Amino acid sequence: MDKRKKILCQFCGMSLFNTSKTCPKCDSDIEDQYHSTTLTVDVAHNKETVKQAIEKLYQVIETNQIMKHRQIRIIVGSKMIREEVMNELEALKRGKAIFDFGLDGKNSGALLIRMEN
Ligand SMILES: [Zn+2]
Repeated sequence: MDKRKKILCQFCGMSLFNTSKTCPKCDSDIEDQYHSTTLTVDVAHNKETVKQAIEKLYQVIETNQIMKHRQIRIIVGSKMIREEVMNELEALKRGKAIFDFGLDGKNSGALLIRMEN
């Protein structure tokens, strides 16, 4: 892998190099974020509007082109955000940007995106 790629800390959004072991801002373990198979992102509990939630979704998917998590769990919270996110995911699936998605088990407040087959 290309060393010294810019990545974002998944907890605080700080931009840093992927060679960092911990985030200088929030001290979270970057290697841990980097190697886990499932990335969890909350797009709904910071009073996000639907538009902001969708922007976050795209940001996460873009970041994942470097991070390469196999699954992304999106915490969608409200029904309104969930429906819009699902619409976007449907389009991304058609465009083959993601492999598949669905509800995270019986938890309707979260969606699970499969990035690869
Ligand atoms: Zn951080």
